[in-house]
Amino acid sequence: MDEISVGLSTWKTELWLAARLPASAGTQAWLRDMLTTEVSALDELASRFRHDSQLSAVNRAAGRWVQVSWEFIAVLTASLEAAAATDGLVNPLLGTHVVAAGYDEWADQDSGITAPATTCDWHAIEIKPGQPAAQVRIPLGSALDLGAVAKGWLADRLAQIVHASTGADCVANMGGDLRVISPGEPWVVAADAGREETHMELDDAGLATSGIGHRAWEGGHHIIDPRTGRPAKTAWDSVSVLAGTAAGANTASTACIVIGDQGPRWLADKGLDGWFVGPTGERLVGRWQQLRHVDAARA
Ligand code: AMP
Ligand code: MG
Repeated sequence: MDEISVGLSTWKTELWLAARLPASAGTQAWLRDMLTTEVSALDELASRFRHDSQLSAVNRAAGRWVQVSWEFIAVLTASLEAAAATDGLVNPLLGTHVVAAGYDEWADQDSGITAPATTCDWHAIEIKPGQPAAQVRIPLGSALDLGAVAKGWLADRLAQIVHASTGADCVANMGGDLRVISPGEPWVVAADAGREETHMELDDAGLATSGIGHRAWEGGHHIIDPRTGRPAKTAWDSVSVLAGTAAGANTASTACIVIGDQGPRWLADKGLDGWFVGPTGERLVGRWQQLRHVDAARA
């Protein structure tokens, strides 16, 4: 079987989707349509850089109920699950803090805005079911940012759609949050920590890398510690995690950046595998040591 892939450069990163399908103009176009349609749908739902996204509508109306689609609820629910799984280390209500830290569309630098000293309790997000739309209310003074979970969520979704509709082995990589569904023959993917890579063969798994390097600026970076409302004082430049899904891997990798030197213990307690790279060295958790050996033997 051939291996075809399509890529897209957006969200300040690279997205790609690959599948073992017969190479033809038709399958290539189908895969490309799938990627561009799903990416633009998620952008319309959850981008904080778009005035017309559902997320922007919810943020503008903080304290009031806002009608949203069930697709929006799906992404929000994934973010609430991430918050629950990390005791709020991954918190969907850091919108104002991320902007105050300087991560805005045009300017990746200190914004001059003071971040609210406290962060909002994500438990206070309310969802009211309804048909055909649902409603959401976030606490007054808060703002959603679903950036941590959205890419992993989309990687899982794209891989599931491609696999379910064709039966083909496939990989969706949304800027380093990736999902493999490849029961036919394992797929070799790489965790990329900037200076170095670890390759691994996966059949059904998620892999994510969170780092401060690629979205950092003088005095700050893009991962917020919800306990302080400021960019996390982390021990790591990058954390890669292997888990069952891309969303799960991404949740854990973001949480590990936030908790810094406690990260390896936290990840080991969750039974996950990880690679922590910091200025003074690295830590390998779970099966990562073994992955490294297999990778070295293959090279
Ligand atoms: P990632 O690239 O997956 O590590 O996600 C980082 C992105 O999630 C940032 O660019 C922010 O938009 C958002 N974010 C930053 N810190 C947090 C946090 N502690 N919890 C949830 N989202 C966050
Ligand atoms: Mg991520």
